[in-house]
This record gives sequence, structure tokens and C-alpha cells, in this order.
Amino acid sequence: MDDLNGRVALVTGSSRGIGRAIALAFAEAGARVAVHYRSRAAEAEGVAASIRAMNRACLCVQADVSTSAGVDQLVHATEAGLGRVEILVNNAGIARPQPVEEITPADWDEIIAVNLTSCFLLTQAVLPTMRERRWGRIINLSSVAAQLGGVIGPHYAASKAGMHGLTHFYARRFAQEGITANVIAPALIETEMVTSNPNANPGLIPVGRFGAPDEVSAVAVMLARNGYITGQTISVNGGWYMT
Ligand code: NDP
Repeated sequence: MDDLNGRVALVTGSSRGIGRAIALAFAEAGARVAVHYRSRAAEAEGVAASIRAMNRACLCVQADVSTSAGVDQLVHATEAGLGRVEILVNNAGIARPQPVEEITPADWDEIIAVNLTSCFLLTQAVLPTMRERRWGRIINLSSVAAQLGGVIGPHYAASKAGMHGLTHFYARRFAQEGITANVIAPALIETEMVTSNPNANPGLIPVGRFGAPDEVSAVAVMLARNGYITGQTISVNGGWYMT
């Protein structure tokens, strides 16, 4: 298993929720971590403070990952502050629960840009360094919505399903270059995204409760350490979708 000590990890959307737990878990594993947020600076600074308290290098970066300019800014700031990105966690995402008949093309475009296009843009930006160094980890946060449809909407489900296709391509293409790409597909993890969604309730989950963010972050660290798992989807969903 690979040592993550000193590796540079960029975790998008790590001001709160699942991303926060993943950023903290990578720091605990010894990584240097870029904490990223879109608008909640104070929460992101709180995560960064916890990481610095562990004596790990850390950087807090604001960027909108739905745009090329935002992604460029995020990657350049991370490289300048911490070094080249070796572990990329595409976690930033939005969910807009909407009645199907009310979803507009603008709603579709927004969800696809934030959840899926960001994943493509960020991966493309960090791949050259990973290839040069012959080591890299790409971890994409999809959703049970890609497998079952979910409780948000078709735009959200499609954005998450698209991440699986991206992951499969990168995993196969770079399998012999020391780069792995995998998906984590969670369901109903107790974050704002879930507690603010009236359609989400623990009764949907076979284990009978919402999941905890650290039940997801433990999987992210495991995937980063393991060079023989690639192209896989690891579901962390309380048994909702079974493979
Ligand atoms: P939260 O809503 O709690 O957090 C979302 C994070 O994404 C925040 O850090 C937010 O930044 C950031 N973000 C949102 N939009 C943008 C943007 N345009 N540019 C940059 N950053 C942005 O989400 P969760 O922690 O619940 O979810 C994390 C990921 O896991 C998401 O991709 C979600 O789809 C997925 N997921 C979650 C599930 C769950 O049960 N919670 C289930 C299945 C999948 P800021 O704080 O600054 O707003």
C-alpha cells in the first residue's frame, strides 16, 4: 500500500460535508491538502485550521469549478502553494431537487457544469503532472443517483452517471502509468445536501440511518493508498443499491 505522507491532495468542495471529511482524512494520512470552496470562506478556513493543527501543510483556495477560469485558478494556486497535484478528489457538487416538469435547459446546464464538466476540466489539468511522475489518484464523488435514479432529478442523475464514463476512460487509458481512477457512489450521507432535501429520509436506507461523512472519507484514503484498484465504483450507501 502506498504511503500518502507528503503527497499533495486537492479536494474540491472541502469547506463542509463529505469533502471536509475527506480533506481531514488525507491530512491525517500525512498528505498536504488544498481545501477548496466556492463561497463559504469561514468554513473552509476552519477546515484548514484543523489541518494545520495536525502540523500538515494546507492551503485554502476559492474558485468556481464550473468554469475553465475557475479551474485554472484553483490548480495554479494549489501548485504555487503546495506543489503539483498528485491526488485529485472531484467532490464539489450541487443538487437542486425539482419537480421533473419544471427543470429548464438552464437548470440542466448548471448541474452538468458544476458536477460533471468540472470533473473533466480538473482531471485534464492535473493529468500531465501525474503522467510525468507516473503516480496519480483520481477519485470522483458520484452518487447512488447514477445507479438508481435517486431523489433529486434527472439532471443530477445524468451528471453523476457521466462521472462513471469519465472514470472508466481515464482508468483504462492510464492503467500502466501508475494512475488510478475510481468512483465513490454515496447515498444519504448526513450533510446539508441531504438534510435540506425533503425527499431524503433514512427510511429509504436498508441500514435505517443516514451515513456519516467519515464513512466516505475512509474509502477515499483507502483508494489513494491502493494502486491495484482502478476503474471501480465503491458504493457507500447503507445497502440501498446492491451490486
Ligand atoms: P454539500 O452541499 O454539503 O457541500 C458541497 C460542497 O461543494 C461545498 O464545499 C461547496 O462550497 C462546494 N461547491 C458547490 N458548488 C460549487 C462550485 N460551483 N464551485 C466550487 N465549489 C462548489 O455536499 P455533500 O458534502 O453532501 O456532497 C459532496 C459530494 O458528494 C457532491 O458531489 C454530492 O453530489 C455527492 N453526493 C452526496 C451525497 C450525500 O448523501 N450527501 C450522496 C451522493 C452524492 P461552499 O461551501 O463554498 O458552498
